[in-house]
Amino acid sequence: MEVVFRCPSCEQTGRSPLNEETTEIPCASCGQVCGVPPEAIGSQGISRCVICRSHDLFIRKDFPQRLGVIIVVVGSLASCYAWYRHALFLTFGILFITAAIDVLLYLLVRDAIVCYRCGAHYRGYDDDDSHTPFNLEIHERYRQEAARQELKGVNKAVDPDQNLSPRV
Ligand SMILES: [Zn+2]
Ligand SMILES: [Zn+2]
Repeated sequence: MEVVFRCPSCEQTGRSPLNEETTEIPCASCGQVCGVPPEAIGSQGISRCVICRSHDLFIRKDFPQRLGVIIVVVGSLASCYAWYRHALFLTFGILFITAAIDVLLYLLVRDAIVCYRCGAHYRGYDDDDSHTPFNLEIHERYRQEAARQELKGVNKAVDPDQNLSPRV
């Protein structure tokens, strides 16, 4: 199993192998170390995010989105060209093959566990059915929490000026 994460300190994307014995996840860019909570990784898989410690995780297909888009675009262009050349069977043949490749890819790719809060991806792990698919409500909750944090950060940055102004 491995985790792909955004370092909370330097915000660079890093990846690190992960197993039941892992206690620390170092950032390759800045050296910041994330301590793994003791009960986070068990034989049951991941129960909480090892980067931000959130318990809210969802499961999704680890589909390479760029590849999916390329297949659809190439398939559409090829079928348009075939249509333009009045090759009806070829047009539908290309569309059918494009769809078949998409379905095949979807069946072949494995699941990834993703953290709502920090977006860390956990790959190469066997699903034990303990994770639920993406839930917009939970996602919205974390999005608003992140927005509030950002606002707080801005206020903090403004505060020192406000304290200074009466003295000036
Ligand atoms: Zn870092
Ligand atoms: Zn997280």
